[in-house]
Amino acid sequence: MADDKKLTTRAADFSAWYNEVIMRAELADYSPVRGCMVIRPNGYAIWEQMQRRLDEMFKDHGVQNAYFPLLIPQSFLSKEAEHVEGFAPELAVVTHGGGKELEEPLVIRPTSETIIYSMYAKWIQSYRDLPMLMNQWANVVRWEMRTRLFLRTAEFLWQEGHTAHVDEAEAEAFTLKILQTYRTFAEEWMAMPVLTGRKTDSERFAGALRTYCIEALMQDNKALQAGTSHNLGQNFAKAFQVTFQNDKGGLDYVWNTSWGVSTRLVGALVMTHGDDNGVITPPRLAQYQVVIVPIYKTDEERAQVLAAADLTLRELKAGGIRAHLDARDGVKPGAKYYEWEGRGVPFRLEIGPRDVAAGKVMLARRTGGRKVPMDTQGLAHTLRIEMDSMQVELLEAARTRREQNSIRGITKGSFLDFLARDGGFAYGGWCGDGKCEAEIKEETKATIRCLPDEEFQSPVRPETCMWCGRPATTEAVWARAY
Ligand SMILES: [Zn+2]
Repeated sequence: MADDKKLTTRAADFSAWYNEVIMRAELADYSPVRGCMVIRPNGYAIWEQMQRRLDEMFKDHGVQNAYFPLLIPQSFLSKEAEHVEGFAPELAVVTHGGGKELEEPLVIRPTSETIIYSMYAKWIQSYRDLPMLMNQWANVVRWEMRTRLFLRTAEFLWQEGHTAHVDEAEAEAFTLKILQTYRTFAEEWMAMPVLTGRKTDSERFAGALRTYCIEALMQDNKALQAGTSHNLGQNFAKAFQVTFQNDKGGLDYVWNTSWGVSTRLVGALVMTHGDDNGVITPPRLAQYQVVIVPIYKTDEERAQVLAAADLTLRELKAGGIRAHLDARDGVKPGAKYYEWEGRGVPFRLEIGPRDVAAGKVMLARRTGGRKVPMDTQGLAHTLRIEMDSMQVELLEAARTRREQNSIRGITKGSFLDFLARDGGFAYGGWCGDGKCEAEIKEETKATIRCLPDEEFQSPVRPETCMWCGRPATTEAVWARAY
């Protein structure tokens, strides 16, 4: 696999570093179809860990999984005016099937609101059928030519949750509950700190009343939208006649929410934690949390070391740790270290003849520091403590970096200066005028990432718009973004 060429450093060219790291770790590859990507086993394993945890979290909220078809009648998209306008430019359309031209073209889902709410109209009759809480794990297609592995591809994997509620308050509460779930997942599992907040109207999901998001800051100080949760209001309910009999016998439209995160999170993980040696995977999401590398020279040593390594492997697995023994012959230990390091395995155990005799193993951490000898006795327990501490360290390091690259109370001058230097999250007052927002985007390529939730707002509330000087209606966070 790996070539021995040194990776481009993050400082030299972050974008080149990102692509090289992903290719070398064998997370993904380019597809023969432009705009698409192949997710390789090492990348898919991270996605599977993400899926597993998110799925549990959704189910804890009473959400059930379902599956809706890939193909949607084109007319469905036109039923919600803003929705079709938002998605029309990126649709892939099927016009032929079985050698014949179709009566009505079918679009490959760019998102599934229309097909799902057309079915909800059939399934929901009474307030007793509510709330209806569903999620699907699926692929979607949004025609996209500027590919960036995991971050922007024509086809990607995601989950999309779709719910229906009796009133606005319940829909809003569910939208925000999911937003907090995404935040918990990002911080506790990905070790990636995020801001939570609301999108401005220009960044709102096409067809939604309000869009909320989690936003992370990557190591190159560009922002990444990592997840969104939408209160759809009654827009889709009206378009698809999703009505219910309320408890007073009258007929009402339901209130919907939809929310999603995608394989983009794998890219976010790489760009949050990776270093000049490759990927660093937080222990909780690692395919292998520990890799064991046996070291031997003679056949006799080999037999002895492999037996001890195999015993350690079984003990770690029994202790609930995802461990792998790299027993390949003909690959030198140093080459194995290099390979696993590039792939981001959090911990490596080295076992040689002297370690076997002493009942020890050598522990190396992906995040650096000295190798330390560990007793094989109680090793699973010790490693679980080590994993927890690495998980916390990664989150804290990312949070510190984000805060060091954030600026508050900006003026037009300090904002332009900030962008001209390294950039990052810039907090300032905003007049609430979409024209002002568009002008800033045009001149600086920075967008409002969110109107931050209270927890993230500055202690001193800005009084004027940082750009136009008119009175501020809110605080906003600007950044250049992926
Ligand atoms: Zn303004």
